[in-house]
Amino acid sequence: MSDEPLVSLENAEVHFEAESGLFDFSDTDVVRAVDGVSLDIGEQDVVALVGESGCGKTTLGKTAIGLQRPTGGSVNYRGQDIWDAKDGSGDVDIPYNEIRRSLQIIHQDPGSSLNPNRKVLGTLEAPLKRWQPDMSSGDRRREIVKMLEAVGMTPAADYAGRYPHQLSGGEQQRIALIRALLMDPDLILADEAISALDVSLRVDMMDLMLELQGQFNTSFVFVSHDLANARYLASHAGGRIGVMYLGELIEVGPPEQIINDPQHPYTKVLRWATPDLRTVGEAEEPPVRNIDIPDPKNPPSGCRFHTRCPEARDACMGQSPESYDLGSGHRVRCFRSDDDHDYWSSPPVTDDEPTPRTPDPST
Ligand code: SF4
Repeated sequence: MSDEPLVSLENAEVHFEAESGLFDFSDTDVVRAVDGVSLDIGEQDVVALVGESGCGKTTLGKTAIGLQRPTGGSVNYRGQDIWDAKDGSGDVDIPYNEIRRSLQIIHQDPGSSLNPNRKVLGTLEAPLKRWQPDMSSGDRRREIVKMLEAVGMTPAADYAGRYPHQLSGGEQQRIALIRALLMDPDLILADEAISALDVSLRVDMMDLMLELQGQFNTSFVFVSHDLANARYLASHAGGRIGVMYLGELIEVGPPEQIINDPQHPYTKVLRWATPDLRTVGEAEEPPVRNIDIPDPKNPPSGCRFHTRCPEARDACMGQSPESYDLGSGHRVRCFRSDDDHDYWSSPPVTDDEPTPRTPDPST
């Protein structure tokens, strides 16, 4: 990783107005999909974001690649504020078009992101025509054949003439990956990109992404609900795993530290919930006090995990933990990583105590 991050999120927030019911005349609720996240993504970096459904991982990924405008904080590409570049405000050193080309996405369902009426050749020619208008037709086709062969789709001429419905799910996802790579991107957001594939094809797809990442000097943000897949990709790429909970990045670090020595109680829950990562002698019951996920429109005060955390103490209900630096790129938002915190002298939370649910004004 070079000194300057490729993409840098600084205290990024994405707050959505929640839809209210037909007869709901109360004030509009706000969902804090991403709340105060700071994260640097380097060159040839891999960050695998994991967490329960609705935790904000996809929104964070889209914010990192400039597809989602943050409602607070900033998102920079090579030091350039992405949204200043788009709006033409402030100092713009990197044109927005270049940023847009450099930050790409592969969706969960490749079938719906490919035009069903367009053959593979037409699908892959479109980005080249747009971003490299001077490239001759012959060179375009040679480039496409080369890429099809690189992802193992041979004979390439045969695949180039097929429609999406004539491809398997894995082949469709390879076409989506080629389409992103033809932009010569610096960063690709792979949003649950292997979730729709058969289990047997997932490792193949991750291996392909790893191979192409090295070949094309690309970084990946890989969004997944599966900690085992996140570990596979991040550990083979020398990357990191980031754990999201209710809009916050609560732990991030090298994959083996996250899996073998998780510091946040919620990361331990995710590991427990991943059969491939269970260790011998692990408890039968999940390591939580409460299995219900709080309403993201009304997140708990203090540490957002305190309503479920088996380690919660009174101090956790009123204060929101900062991000503690544990070294080697490992950071965690839990008071247990601060030996001097009041947490250690405060009484444990018991389940018969009412738990405050009002939002913490400091978050
Ligand atoms: S700060 Fe408290 S409630 Fe939050 S994860 Fe740590 S111990 Fe649990």
